Amino acid sequence: MSSVIRLLPDHVANQIAAGEVVQRPASVVKELLENAVDAGATAIKLVIKDAGKTLIQVIDDGKGMNEIDARMCFERHATSKISIAEDLFQLQTKGFRGEALASIAAIAHVELKSKEHTAELGTQVIIEGSKITSQEIVVAPSGTSFSVKNLFFNIPARRNFLKSDQVELRHVIDEFERVALAHNNIQFTFINNGSEMFNLPASNFRQRIVNVFGGKTNEKLVPVQETTEIVEVHGFVAKPEFAKKSRGEQFFFVNDRFIKSGYLHHAVTAAFEGLLKDGTHPSYFLYLTLPPNSIDINIHPTKTEIKFDDEQALYAILRATIKHSLGQFNVSPVLDFQKDGDLEVPYSYEGTKSTEPTVEVDAFFNPFESMKSGSSLAGQMGSGFNPFESIKPKTSVSSFQSNASFQDRKHKSGGWETLYEGISDAKEIILTSANHQFDEEVITGSLFDDDSSQPTNHQQSYQFQKKYIISPIKSGMIIIDQRRAHQRILYEHYMRSFTVKQNASQQLLFPLSLYYSVYEMELLKNLQNELVQMGFLFDEISNEKIVILGIPVSITESEVSIVLEDLLNDMQDDAPADVDILHDRIAKSLAQSLAVKTGTYLSDKEQENIVNSLFGCDDPQTSPFGKTTFITMKVEDIDKKFM
Ligand code: ADP
Ligand code: MG
Repeated sequence: MSSVIRLLPDHVANQIAAGEVVQRPASVVKELLENAVDAGATAIKLVIKDAGKTLIQVIDDGKGMNEIDARMCFERHATSKISIAEDLFQLQTKGFRGEALASIAAIAHVELKSKEHTAELGTQVIIEGSKITSQEIVVAPSGTSFSVKNLFFNIPARRNFLKSDQVELRHVIDEFERVALAHNNIQFTFINNGSEMFNLPASNFRQRIVNVFGGKTNEKLVPVQETTEIVEVHGFVAKPEFAKKSRGEQFFFVNDRFIKSGYLHHAVTAAFEGLLKDGTHPSYFLYLTLPPNSIDINIHPTKTEIKFDDEQALYAILRATIKHSLGQFNVSPVLDFQKDGDLEVPYSYEGTKSTEPTVEVDAFFNPFESMKSGSSLAGQMGSGFNPFESIKPKTSVSSFQSNASFQDRKHKSGGWETLYEGISDAKEIILTSANHQFDEEVITGSLFDDDSSQPTNHQQSYQFQKKYIISPIKSGMIIIDQRRAHQRILYEHYMRSFTVKQNASQQLLFPLSLYYSVYEMELLKNLQNELVQMGFLFDEISNEKIVILGIPVSITESEVSIVLEDLLNDMQDDAPADVDILHDRIAKSLAQSLAVKTGTYLSDKEQENIVNSLFGCDDPQTSPFGKTTFITMKVEDIDKKFM
């Protein structure tokens, strides 16, 4: 039999290697930026178009390449960074595998221009799918410029696999931030689709972090510093009260290289133990310096995972160092026997204004009065919830449609209204309130005036465990989960608000400025239309802050920052391109952040509002997240228990 083993042609081998090194535009960005750093650049510029799918260009003022190197650099295993195996254990550079450029050139159209500082002229090389199509002498500035166009042009499957521009941009920004944070002494600029996203002058570590994450970051940082025999640690952790719901800002750098390490991450979270609110994550920017021979970087092609000789010792040092810093800067709880424990304010409330308890009881409240006049009930509920607002169409023109949808609703709701049959009070309330909401024009001012001095017919309900609302019905009783029910009500309210051209907005007395990272600002810009439609009014949306002039009537000013933070958090990974899905996601996010929490006391009025509004919903049985909102218990079943 003839032999069957053959050496793969270079371009095929390169494509295979590219599969490991280049997953998406962000991988190219990482490799090119790191090469520029290794070339000793003092200024690096990144330019991308369409999240890098169309163009990625990196321009540096580093040492440049001569004519031969400009060609050689695209060969596989071509590197100037190591020459013998022992060098692997003394790495000072980002690159050393000599496969990035060969891989990139195998799957894209690449144009390289480079000139050494001492040379008069530079070289231009054009290479497409591993084939050099042109090489010539050109006039060029000192340094190197790589343009990578049409990534994956020859691997359609990979190209189709790429995510939306927003997601790919997120990855590019991540890589950019990692390199920029590791090299504060280099100036970085980042141009995205023609506009400048980042401009980071050479500066110290702290300033670099602030420049990347926005002016408000400075006050959040607590310095961390420790030198031991096996490691030198420096950097910053963010004060616990600034912990984020998303896992955004967590950075480890080992010898100026960004790395991921679940183990070291655990050490940091252990240091924060007891200081963080549930569901929040600490931010940190930690730079570790270790002897190069005590780590192994070459365990993964992208070099973001590394092996440490003495992981356990590192863990202990890191944890102790951060604990110490948090203690020193007075952010961890200290035992202070002088203080009266009862008066101690938890750190997360320090400096915040005290507000009245959220639930107000209005003894003179008359639901018919307010429904009739159309005045808002906002404020009756601690969460700014206004059930009538949410059901009542904004314009009377739509009352006809609403009527129709009410019929519809009766249909869809699976006959919940029969639950109340036979309980005259209850029936009356539900039906009259429904009439009110959908037949505004019929209601005249005098209809209920006579009743206003009479006690109103409240549906009897009882709050149980600050979690459930229990209410009698003809056949027994109904138990409603207050939070889920409120989520359902809010969800439908916001979904409906997207069908109105523009919702009413309440003007703020003072414009509200909120600060976000560059990426979060990018997300907000994408959500701007929806937010405006909901009733937000913006004065300014820049690269790091928004100025808000008006907010939807259903949200209070103090809730705005939480609502937006939650919304950004929920949209982190992907804001859907389809508007209906986007609206659904936004409405869910708002329902989640604004719904009354389990554990909140509800007044009779609030309980009643929830009960009535829930059964005014299209789909009262489940929360927007598919959870059961209420259950019923039959009298017979209860009777059985007493047998
Ligand atoms: P590695 O970085 O692992 O050496 P690469 O494929 O990324 O492999 O690069 C190959 C070689 O090309 C580098 O070793 C370096 O000599 C040269 N090179 C790449 N980018 C630049 C640059 N921006 N400036 C100068 N030389 C560069
Ligand atoms: Mg490289």
